[in-house]
Amino acid sequence: MSTIASISTAPGIGGIGIIRMSGRDTFKILNKIFVMKNSKDIKEISGYTMKYGHIVENNRTIDEVLVSYFKSPKSYTTEDMCEINSHGGTVVMRKILELCLKNGANLAEPGEFTKRAFLNGRIDLSQAESVIDIINAKSEREAKEGIKQLNGFLSKEIFEIKQILLEIMTNIEVSIDYPEYDTPNVTNVEILEKIDISRKKLEDLKDSFDNGKYIKQGIKTVIIGKPNAGKSSLLNAILNEDRAIVTEVEGTTRDTIEEFVNIKGIPLNLVDTAGIRESHDIVEKIGIEKSKKLAEEADLIIAIFDSSQNFTNEDLEILKIAKNKKSIIVLNKIDLKQKITSDNPELKDLNKNLINLSAKNKNGLNLLFEKINDMFNLNEINLDNDVVITNERHKNLISTAIKNLNEAERSLNIGMPVDIIAINLKDVLHNLGEITGEEASEEIINEIFSRFCLGK
Ligand code: GDP
Repeated sequence: MSTIASISTAPGIGGIGIIRMSGRDTFKILNKIFVMKNSKDIKEISGYTMKYGHIVENNRTIDEVLVSYFKSPKSYTTEDMCEINSHGGTVVMRKILELCLKNGANLAEPGEFTKRAFLNGRIDLSQAESVIDIINAKSEREAKEGIKQLNGFLSKEIFEIKQILLEIMTNIEVSIDYPEYDTPNVTNVEILEKIDISRKKLEDLKDSFDNGKYIKQGIKTVIIGKPNAGKSSLLNAILNEDRAIVTEVEGTTRDTIEEFVNIKGIPLNLVDTAGIRESHDIVEKIGIEKSKKLAEEADLIIAIFDSSQNFTNEDLEILKIAKNKKSIIVLNKIDLKQKITSDNPELKDLNKNLINLSAKNKNGLNLLFEKINDMFNLNEINLDNDVVITNERHKNLISTAIKNLNEAERSLNIGMPVDIIAINLKDVLHNLGEITGEEASEEIINEIFSRFCLGK
């Protein structure tokens, strides 16, 4: 493959910058632009070593650099590679990249280094996709999931399922080729058993997606309550919580701002925080209609009430919204004399998780976090050992695989010829192959890598 080059560090000014090259001519090109101190022939330089020297053009020094050497096949792409560590100024980095290009390298497309790692067989497609997840991770948990996937956790699981399916295929082939040796019932029972085992594994993977989604995108949380119930006080208390890491992201619905908060490992994606904050002078704040709309797409609703006042009609509307969703009822302002308690008949009937707290004094916040943890089984996710799906593409393919597996079972149960079942199973194998990439079309592969950043 041709030799590619690109700036791999983020655009802008930094302490150091890295220009990366990969491909057959890497060292030839490097040789033309890099003057190493105590110069050595490339044959004498081992992989995973660094050399000090200068990047030069026509005897003029461009920068003082350190160059890392990676020799094929032991590199990110499996090709000969180098990383030039320059000073982190934009001009210097651009100049070095330009020199690489002038001397024969092509400018790398976004994700092309990782694409090469995939095309050269070092990692499979699901592993390549995890690289994007690691780069974009907003929480430690998410990054950890990405690393696990990069290490092949999902690939291994898919491989095991494929092995079981291939065993069934072998059984079927044998019974097609040598029908005289076959006892159909035995074969059928065995096939059904194996279908069951693989389906269970696929279903576990599919179920893990919701957990994975929370890890990746945060638990989509909407705070609703009538004006003055304490929404913005609660929001601020949550955001100011010790160790809360806050990242603001644009919401999926227009005009909303989502705030990704990671508190003690609980990933929350607080929706429409702007609506809560900015509308301070507006009497309505978040109106009932808007609350209803936001609630529709939420994973969790925090419905907050001023417990020092009796319920109003508006409160009852809020309760109605919370009723049919995963929600927590917060009785706020417990520092004041309470008029509403958990014994209130409206609340008793509702049968929901209920917390008493004071948003103003930040009293009882921990109870809220504990409750969320319990409700979403966050502690039950064994991040070190369980395979967790975090990618929608993988989930959809797994769902299709399960459908095709059910089809195989149905065909078998209604006495279809075994070659029909073999066709169903081939579909399942195809679905799984799309996850790991052997069966993915070029379009899908290109689409995936186009989402990468430059230099990765
Ligand atoms: P929002 O309209 O729902 O966003 O409510 P705010 O958070 O703006 O609070 C309305 C008023 O209630 C403000 O004056 C807050 O200081 C007050 N408030 C909020 N939480 C508490 C609390 O826990 N105790 C007391 N005493 N007052 C509170």
